[in-house]
Amino acid sequence: MQNKITSLKELSRNLWWSWDTEAKQLFEELSPLLWERNNHNPVELLQHISNDELTARCELEYGKKIESVYSRFTDYLNAKETWATINAPELVENPVAYFSAEFGIHESVRIYSGGLGVLAGDHLKSASDLGINFIGVTLFYKEGYFRQYLNQDGWQTENYPLQYPESLPIEKVTDEDGKELIISVNIAQSEVFAQAWRLKVGRATLYLLDTNIGLNESHYRDICCRVYGGDQNMRINQEILLGIGGVKLLEKLGEKPTVYHMNEGHSAFLTLELLARELANGATETEAMANVRSRCVFTTHTPVPAGHDRFSREMMHYTFNKYISTIGMDFDDLMRLGSEDKNNIYGLFTMTVLALNLSRTANGVSKLHGEVSRVMWQHLYTGKSVDEVPIGHITNGVHASSWTCGQTALFWNKFGVSVDEMSLSRETAEAVLAKVTDSELWALRYILKRNLIDFIDRYLANQLFHQHLNSCQSEYDTSKSAKNTFSPDVLTIGFARRFATYKRAPLIFRDLERLNRIINNETRPLQIVFAGKAHPHDDAGKDYIRQIVQHSRRSEFSGKVIFLENYNLGVAKRMVSGVDVWLNTPVRPMEASGTSGEKTVLHGGLNFSVLDGWWPEAYNGENGFSIANGECFENYEEQDSFDAEKMYSTLENQIIPAFYERNEENIPVQWIKKIRNAIATIAPEYNTHRMVRDYATKYYLNRKAE
Ligand SMILES: *Cc1c(COP(=O)(O)O)cnc(C)c1O
Repeated sequence: MQNKITSLKELSRNLWWSWDTEAKQLFEELSPLLWERNNHNPVELLQHISNDELTARCELEYGKKIESVYSRFTDYLNAKETWATINAPELVENPVAYFSAEFGIHESVRIYSGGLGVLAGDHLKSASDLGINFIGVTLFYKEGYFRQYLNQDGWQTENYPLQYPESLPIEKVTDEDGKELIISVNIAQSEVFAQAWRLKVGRATLYLLDTNIGLNESHYRDICCRVYGGDQNMRINQEILLGIGGVKLLEKLGEKPTVYHMNEGHSAFLTLELLARELANGATETEAMANVRSRCVFTTHTPVPAGHDRFSREMMHYTFNKYISTIGMDFDDLMRLGSEDKNNIYGLFTMTVLALNLSRTANGVSKLHGEVSRVMWQHLYTGKSVDEVPIGHITNGVHASSWTCGQTALFWNKFGVSVDEMSLSRETAEAVLAKVTDSELWALRYILKRNLIDFIDRYLANQLFHQHLNSCQSEYDTSKSAKNTFSPDVLTIGFARRFATYKRAPLIFRDLERLNRIINNETRPLQIVFAGKAHPHDDAGKDYIRQIVQHSRRSEFSGKVIFLENYNLGVAKRMVSGVDVWLNTPVRPMEASGTSGEKTVLHGGLNFSVLDGWWPEAYNGENGFSIANGECFENYEEQDSFDAEKMYSTLENQIIPAFYERNEENIPVQWIKKIRNAIATIAPEYNTHRMVRDYATKYYLNRKAE
């Protein structure tokens, strides 16, 4: 029998633990304080605990707990029968290779910035759960994405703490001789080298390329410094490493993917390296393109123009001239693959165009986003009507067990189901809900809100402490700072996301007097918690943060509007578990999907959103609330006024009454009815198990002959 300590260490090195409640408790229980301090990183936690302590503690129940979790873990890894063995055996044989510039798997592995990464992480986890042979490819960013601090004015400042490989659950990829495996890519006139790290996520593997090695000049080492860091030049270098380097890595590892899935255009250069192989094997350019196309799948993620990378012809020439000549392709032909106008190869090279040209299927991430994308890219498909543009859609979901807090998982377990089972079908969810009383659901809501408020309290204390330390003023004016006077009896709204301006975080402050009346209503008050990061170059987004922080300090909102700094996966999970209402205010149709609202449903949270992204598909009038009916105005001011008005009136006339109207037992019957409806209709549909099954059956499996 394997030593328990060895088992525990092995568990810490597979992110499977991050979506298993008991596995997580195993680490937390060792030292709740160290667990908190080390950002819930079990590898780091275990570095602080001696083998003597572990050995001693294993003598009591702790040892048995390790054994029980470990045995479930090995059962999981070795399962003979999975969704894929039954429904898609082809996808068990050869791997699907999934390329993404970021992966949000857990807050302790800081290689993500926002929603795109979270989606990639959830996709990876579901692929593992479903038993698909699945490999992720990304970069190792030694500084990750920034840590957000707010200064006294509420202005965002960024800090880039290093992450050390030895404190992460990653291992260096080596060759047969145990030497580190090195690949190289051609950038401009240079050869740039990269090593690779392996991260285990259940049955799936994520590879992270890393140029931080002695073989490289320092400016090439910086390619693997920050997620979306640097200028256009850095961007193109990162994308070459990801796409071209990724294909080279997989080849060196002997992997033969049947599908290359490009999660957003960042990785689209992978198609060039696949073309290079075809050309080297003697294919003509036309044959090569057809062969590459037959293996590639592309997902586009945003209608926002800035979300689509574009490089100038000069930059492309400087960076690719040497590479393109070595693979035997003409530079103008390369430009043609990425030009929006085939007749003008002197303009910009667009990664999305390259990806669309060289993939067999393409999709947006919600029904509405599919429609918007077809219009957006119609000009690439001469002679085709909008409906004929070959871009479909698969609506994004979330990985249910990752996004369910321990208390909620326990709650559903008590009624005989796992969180995954609750997300399986509407029938299952309804059958379970029939066994749950209103008062039980209401009790759950109280527990979760209490947890959130306790969390906010500790978190804010820390936040204010270092705001104080960093302040230049000798007298720190505490009256100006946020205090937590949240109450679990009060209707609680959460808003947290990247502070891209189209998401309009400050919309609810448009009419301060009206908001004051709503928040400070004597019998039916409201409290709001915010969080979110603006991109370091986005001053408009940072100004939104500043506005909200300053509003939160107004005497009428103090303690009732709170901004939590450094939004990340951990903070997100706390927030989506605890709030009553998840607010979402994008300018329609800019939010391709959005996923954070999907995370709140199994906790009994309700969505209150503009009809954008996934919400128009999910909203049925009874399972949450909508802001307006999808009306669009040319003028931004008009749009904001209109949407804000609708938001206030829906709050006043629907949301607040439904929450505060109680029966004799003090239960908000109408509210609970909506929660039930949301759980039954949203949870089974808007999860990544359903999403990955859709990708597998619609796009990965290529059963129809090409
Ligand atoms: C879920 C999540 C997102 C994506 O949220 P949207 O609804 O798409 O805005 C972004 N960041 C973090 C940390 C998340 O957990």
